[in-house]
Amino acid sequence: MPWCNSCDRFYNPNSMAPDGSCPTCGRVIAEPPDADLKVPWHFWVLVTATGAYLLWRVIQGFAWLVG
Ligand SMILES: [Zn+2]
Repeated sequence: MPWCNSCDRFYNPNSMAPDGSCPTCGRVIAEPPDADLKVPWHFWVLVTATGAYLLWRVIQGFAWLVG
């Protein structure tokens, strides 16, 4: 839990400013909370695979229309 030395109090990550600074004195007391929301690498593997599959189905669809 982030602790601010200047204010002598703990802060909930949700009560901090978006950049991880203390809402009272403005000192940076923690990493920005958004760092936890970083998308894992395997999400992009899944997105790429799904996109490639859909692209392939579109190509197949055009081939069917032409042929
Ligand atoms: Zn403070």
